[in-house]
Amino acid sequence: MLGVLGGGQLGRMFTIAAHQMGYQVTVLDPDLDSPAGRIADQFIHADYADTAALGQMREQCAAITTEFENIPAETLTLLEQACPVSPDAHSVAIAQNRITEKQYLRNNGLSVAPFAVIDRIDQIVHVQQDLFPGILKVSQFGYDGKGQRQIGDPSGLRIAFDELGTVPCVLEKKLSLTCELSIVLARDVYGNMESFPAIENQHVNGILDISIVPARIDMALAQRADAMARKLADTLNYQGVLCVEFFFVQDDQLLINEIAPRPHNSGHFSIDACVTSQFEQQVRTLCNLPLGNVALHQPCVMVNLLGDIWREKTPDWTRILGQPSAKLHLYGKKEARAGRKMGHFTVMDETAEKALASALRIRKSLTT
Ligand code: ADP
Ligand code: MG
Repeated sequence: MLGVLGGGQLGRMFTIAAHQMGYQVTVLDPDLDSPAGRIADQFIHADYADTAALGQMREQCAAITTEFENIPAETLTLLEQACPVSPDAHSVAIAQNRITEKQYLRNNGLSVAPFAVIDRIDQIVHVQQDLFPGILKVSQFGYDGKGQRQIGDPSGLRIAFDELGTVPCVLEKKLSLTCELSIVLARDVYGNMESFPAIENQHVNGILDISIVPARIDMALAQRADAMARKLADTLNYQGVLCVEFFFVQDDQLLINEIAPRPHNSGHFSIDACVTSQFEQQVRTLCNLPLGNVALHQPCVMVNLLGDIWREKTPDWTRILGQPSAKLHLYGKKEARAGRKMGHFTVMDETAEKALASALRIRKSLTT
């Protein structure tokens, strides 16, 4: 019996991978109806800080993982005393707070975008001018572009800091991005690593829209990103699946945007397009099993399906399924809301360009 904290789509895809390998799964989630809770062997309906529920998990699970970095780090620390937990509390604590994350990266020689920490209103007058125009981001609980405001000048900063709830934030310089990349890797307890090919990501309104694999960049840049992700995983002495998101900007600079201590939306292509998926790697690292081969069967493109396209009725899925090398994944969420991740599809082809052309054609046909 494996345990997973969090019942969203990432927990669901972990559960499917674990089931495939013969494991049972206990899911803990504060929501009564969740994508992973629905298919779990055992579902614990509780808050992430509920000590009785965590005790139950410790008792019945051989190892525990998480799909969600906003688990209180104390929860993982508590679980770690009784059973193997990966990712570890230390890595999660760093990744769940943009301030500690950026400071950790910078202190370990990994470049990040220019930023300032804003945790009190009186700091605003001291902010360097060259951070404007910038993006103010809450330090905790932000995702899919939520908890962010674009800022033109210091007066805008004051308003945005109030609007975001006067909570600790980082102000980041708004960069002109040549492209966005991510590296998803798995690292085992002995330090062995397998990383998927570099992924090229396109975001719309701060939400991942499309991932193209392999990224259409030169090999040297892909290798730089891979080396930075591996260096970070080694520095953290990380066990599990880790995603590192990058900004590639002018002057050939490769910066780390943020890290996710778990499988990542940009790695969903691996379910259909790789020998071993990111979720199977999560099972393998959690259970101290050898890492799988991550070779890509074919170049591919993954497209997110957000709730927006349900506006009138459920989309006609035969538009996706009618293309034999396209694979549809729906997460079983009952209610489609704008911006909510409901599913994704992956299209494979001889080249990334061909896969992209088919993916865009299919996506267009879903709403016309
Ligand atoms: P989230 O935690 O919501 O994913 P991110 O910090 O990754 O937040 O921001 C979401 C997206 O917004 C990024 O993938 C990128 O497209 C854009 N973005 C964020 N920060 C910057 C920046 N400093 N300059 C330019 N674009 C940015
Ligand atoms: Mg992000």
